Amino acid sequence: MSELIMAPMECAAAVVFDDNILMIVVLVGLLIGIIVIRAIIRLIFMAKPPATFRCARCKREVPHNNRTIEAWRSGKHKFFCQECHQKWREMHPAVRESSGGGSGCMLPLALILSLIAIGTYSVTRFNAS
Ligand SMILES: [Zn+2]
Repeated sequence: MSELIMAPMECAAAVVFDDNILMIVVLVGLLIGIIVIRAIIRLIFMAKPPATFRCARCKREVPHNNRTIEAWRSGKHKFFCQECHQKWREMHPAVRESSGGGSGCMLPLALILSLIAIGTYSVTRFNAS
């Protein structure tokens, strides 16, 4: 135990510090990577929804329109046919359709953060070797 503590302290402290930063950078990178991959998968697979959908209210099989495609792209899983949507809007006149802008600004932010993470990671690796 005491022999370990007697080892060159500066070197040991530096290694521990680097390892912690490396771990945080890797974890942040993984997290951002997952977000970016999910966004890419969504862009690839969700760009073209199936031709039809089942209305969440009247359970009819109806073709997609611009409104439901837009909802599909913003990650919604419940769709309503034009008639049910019209009825819903009459019942909720105050509620406006959301544009889903929240997810739109997440992608560039995630990209910038991942670039920073990759940069920090490579700098850390370069310094370590
Ligand atoms: Zn319906």
